[in-house]
Amino acid sequence: MERPSLYVVATPIGNLADITLRALEVLKRVDAIAAEDTRITARLLRHYGIGAPLIALHEHNERSAAQKILQLLAHGKSVALVSDAGTPAISDPGAIAVALVRAAGHPVVPLPGANAALCALSAAGTLAQHFLFYGFLPPPAAARRRELAVLKTLPYLLVFYEAPHRVIASVTDMAAAFGDGRAITIARELTKLFETIHTCRLGEAAAWLAADANRIKGEFVLLVEGAAEASAMDAGAARRVLEILLRELPLKQAVKLAAAITGARKNGVYGLALRMRKEGK
Ligand code: SAM
Repeated sequence: MERPSLYVVATPIGNLADITLRALEVLKRVDAIAAEDTRITARLLRHYGIGAPLIALHEHNERSAAQKILQLLAHGKSVALVSDAGTPAISDPGAIAVALVRAAGHPVVPLPGANAALCALSAAGTLAQHFLFYGFLPPPAAARRRELAVLKTLPYLLVFYEAPHRVIASVTDMAAAFGDGRAITIARELTKLFETIHTCRLGEAAAWLAADANRIKGEFVLLVEGAAEASAMDAGAARRVLEILLRELPLKQAVKLAAAITGARKNGVYGLALRMRKEGK
């Protein structure tokens, strides 16, 4: 570590082993660690035998905590910034402190690592080329529905974070706003004991979640198919054509013909065909 710097360090989203060697080295060497919930970070640090002093930095004190960081940097000390889980400043505090530190001319050094959205995307098997990270929808139902109406026409896979007590209400509102036919991947408790990754139609999601009380426990990322894929697919048409062709032809040939017949994009039809095969249709 040369110049006193603020290191923005990603921490695990469940499995404590999901932390980089570089992150551990930096956490050991800095003079202080700014943490969202110091009790949660203390647990991680204990696990790795790290004993740096902690500064609380959360959404209610971020500006004043940033001043403490600036003072340390001015005195030649280096500081790490972590949140409770994953990458700081992604649906988490950190951005204000980072902006103030950069404005003061100190180096801000990112240490990449765990992030729930990217973790879910990597295992969803979506063929979407582009995605939009939305984060948390507004909790009040009216505001959530207004927001979903805005997102409805976007041609990108939509990535949401959601709390367990709102997940059924949210997928119900998504189905009402976007239509039942779009695919949704529900990624729950990633990297943890009860990790679950389930793909279905939006219209089936609420019932799937409600079918087992364990399915609505824990932390969720929801990945919802974007508008272009669904509409270019001419929703039901590609599915109906595929249903017939898949009975008679190998998958690749069925996809090629279904795309030619319906005018839908081949990528989208291919994804649909894979899901139909999995559903046994
Ligand atoms: N900064 C974090 C990141 O990089 O992903 C996100 C923090 S945000 C306050 C917490 C939300 O992320 C949870 O409510 C959930 O939606 C999602 N999340 C975090 N850990 C998760 C996990 N292990 N499995 C699924 N979703 C998770």
